[in-house]
Amino acid sequence: MAYEKEKEIAIAAVQAAATICEKVRAEMVPEAIEKSDKSPVTVADFGAQAIVCKMLKDVFPNDPIVGEEDADDLRTPEMAARLTQVTGYVKAVIPDATDDQIPGWIDQGNGDVSPRYWTLDPIDGTKGFLRGDQYAVALAMVEDGDLKVGVLGCPALTLNGRSGILFVAVRGEGTMMMDMDGNNPEKISVTSSSDTANFRFVESVAHSDQELHSRIAQAAGITTEAIRMDSQAKYGTVASGNAVLYLRLPSPKYPGYREKIWDHAAGVLVIEEAGGKVTDMHGKTLDFSKEPRFVDTQGVVVSNGEIHDKVLAVLTN
Ligand code: AMP
Ligand code: MG
Repeated sequence: MAYEKEKEIAIAAVQAAATICEKVRAEMVPEAIEKSDKSPVTVADFGAQAIVCKMLKDVFPNDPIVGEEDADDLRTPEMAARLTQVTGYVKAVIPDATDDQIPGWIDQGNGDVSPRYWTLDPIDGTKGFLRGDQYAVALAMVEDGDLKVGVLGCPALTLNGRSGILFVAVRGEGTMMMDMDGNNPEKISVTSSSDTANFRFVESVAHSDQELHSRIAQAAGITTEAIRMDSQAKYGTVASGNAVLYLRLPSPKYPGYREKIWDHAAGVLVIEEAGGKVTDMHGKTLDFSKEPRFVDTQGVVVSNGEIHDKVLAVLTN
């Protein structure tokens, strides 16, 4: 089996991060802290990034990590109380963690895209996390531009009678779905377009062109309304056969938006190893070898494979 060690550590890191996130949701009403780009971050995002970086770097000290958060905002005197809150949650996993260590652990996620690197979204779907809806801890390892290991922790997702789901994919070895604690693993695959009950599509709650999505889906033969969901839980929904399509076409408000690699890396491998397909809206492959944002692709189309070309054809007409 390839990448056994990477898989084992990635699973443990995502589980630890998810433990912190769920503890924050259970114990406090998480407050949004505004980042410089106006997007929200919470103590759980910081705690989750700290723990994943710390656990990865302990085992793979030379692997850069390209993560969503950085600790600059936590280092100011006004943020001291917030930092202590973050440390408190990290202690649930690493009991002797201190305030002094946390910003450094978080900033280990400031690495560059490299021949081999990890990319992390400590909480993908922070808005869903704040609302009490879906979110995901998303971690992937990329080698020579190719996704090799992808782990998606979705503690709030319920599918096939399972609540709290971990998706684990290794290149060439398929995608597994299991309970958050790793129990009851099951190999998953996308469903056929003839599976009428699941011939439906998912989309983001906010970030994309929902009107265009519904036109494209209808033209591709999908007659039911979109299932709206935050985070890469959408990838897991298609990978496990609970939908056949995930559309993410640029919102008319931000037509030139460039997607970030950590919002897709783990999800893409989870889909590909479950037999599905991912391209941008023009049919181009997503390129994980260059920058933290995709440089020459726009939007994302995720499918069971079978309907992919039809959807792209409808899009270009
Ligand atoms: P979702 O939960 O699918 O809406 O995706 C959440 C992610 O969308 C966040 O992690 C952001 O990085 C990303 N995002 C922010 N603004 C946009 C935008 N205008 N278009 C697409 N994605 C965005
Ligand atoms: Mg995200």
